[in-house]
Amino acid sequence: MWTVSHLGGTVRTEDFGHLVSRTPHSVRRAEHPAQVVEAIAFARAAGLPLAPRGAAHSVYGRSQAEGGVVLDVTGIAAVGEVTPDRVTVGAGASWRAVVEATLPAGLAPPVLPDYLDLTVGGTVVVGGVGGTTHRHGLVSDNVLELEVVTGTGDVVVCGPGHPLFDAARGGLGQVGVVTSVTLALAPAPPQARRYVVEYRTLEDMVADSRALLAENRWDYLQGAVLPTPDGWRPVLEGAALVTGTHQDVIEGLNGVVEITTMSHRELLSRLEPLEAALRELGQWDNPHPWLTTFVPDAAVEDVVGKILDRTPPEDLGKFGRVVVSPIAEGAVRTPLVRVPEGHHHAVNVLRFPGADPDEAERLVAVNRELYEVVVRAGGTLYPVSALPLSAAEWAAHYGDAMAGFAAARAEFDPDGILTPGYEVFR
Ligand SMILES: Cc1cc2nc3c(=O)[nH]c(=O)nc-3n(C[C@H](O)[C@H](O)[C@H](O)COP(=O)(O)OP(=O)(O)OC[C@H]3O[C@@H](n4cnc5c(N)ncnc54)[C@H](O)[C@@H]3O)c2cc1C
Repeated sequence: MWTVSHLGGTVRTEDFGHLVSRTPHSVRRAEHPAQVVEAIAFARAAGLPLAPRGAAHSVYGRSQAEGGVVLDVTGIAAVGEVTPDRVTVGAGASWRAVVEATLPAGLAPPVLPDYLDLTVGGTVVVGGVGGTTHRHGLVSDNVLELEVVTGTGDVVVCGPGHPLFDAARGGLGQVGVVTSVTLALAPAPPQARRYVVEYRTLEDMVADSRALLAENRWDYLQGAVLPTPDGWRPVLEGAALVTGTHQDVIEGLNGVVEITTMSHRELLSRLEPLEAALRELGQWDNPHPWLTTFVPDAAVEDVVGKILDRTPPEDLGKFGRVVVSPIAEGAVRTPLVRVPEGHHHAVNVLRFPGADPDEAERLVAVNRELYEVVVRAGGTLYPVSALPLSAAEWAAHYGDAMAGFAAARAEFDPDGILTPGYEVFR
């Protein structure tokens, strides 16, 4: 069904961040690409910006449009036939729907985000970091084909070598509304051996993450520093996907290892207990002033040390964490997702603070300080952050990719109506 609600300036939209709230002109829901074409034609004719909206798990107004059209694409959610190497899904499908279809066939995308209730389209346009990124790159590196409705209303099917394919993946919705995504699939063993390794120091944790990465030992490999009543606790969290009996490869690690056997499905749903706890405490709907970055390997201990020095545990909240996850050189291949050269780390400050909006604003200001620490160390931003950037900062962020990105924007969205929330092209 095709629904349009004209809001007359009375309804504001929100997102998971609860930091930015915009009043759109209207909200539309599309259940078919033709309705995306129609919405874009309407917005162009009316001279309005248009923001596609997936699961709205952005944290800084990225899927909102002040005075514009918000286009809910979660109705375009069909999951197609699962074949041994691929599945084509509507961009509004959740990752949960994808794995519900593929796991029974013993298959899964090589990279999935940690949280399954994001949409496929909303993830592909930012990149998508997950537990296997250290080895297989981003979600967007494992996409075979896209169907995109451009800002001119053209429906384009594109794959590797097509300029729209490279501008849409990681392109923050600046060149088109993704309507369909063909995902690569790989064998998905039924069981997982999950490893949680606790460390006394960040240095020990990072040393082991380097070794595990170099030896390519674990299928899943992520790390974090957690706030505890006794101070910071660095942990590595990983897994081996297994069929039948399995020899754990944990010798030589410098921390205390806890091993759990679980189903592959449970491994993929590992954030569910956190979500349930936050919902129970009424904290799921609090502001989320998150900062997400990539830091070169040589600087990671120094940068994370500075982040921890600037982060009293109460700023993170009981369930917050500073993610420090290694990524192999060359794993990230999506041109518009900017990462440092060589082996690097996803370094994310994931805060679950209280409900106070002034406190949330203060933490967005802290994000700027920490971002500058990251950039001075040769790091880059993962743009899903709660951090406004100026036009000059976006240009610096994209560096030698900026000219090509701007040319793609001019070609595929000449009126500049799409996805104003990222403010890349003002
Ligand atoms: C609890 C939680 C867990 C998360 N876990 C991860 C994680 O593990 N890995 C990771 O990389 N990120 C993670 N994120 C960040 C998340 O990937 C991004 O914020 C993502 O963009 C959200 O997807 P969404 O479906 O909610 O999209 P939305 O927030 O609705 O949209 C995101 C952006 O993409 C645009 N957009 C949405 N759909 C389309 C489309 N079909 N075509 C073009 N543009 C579109 C929107 O306009 C907006 O600018 C997490 C966020 C939260 C809140």
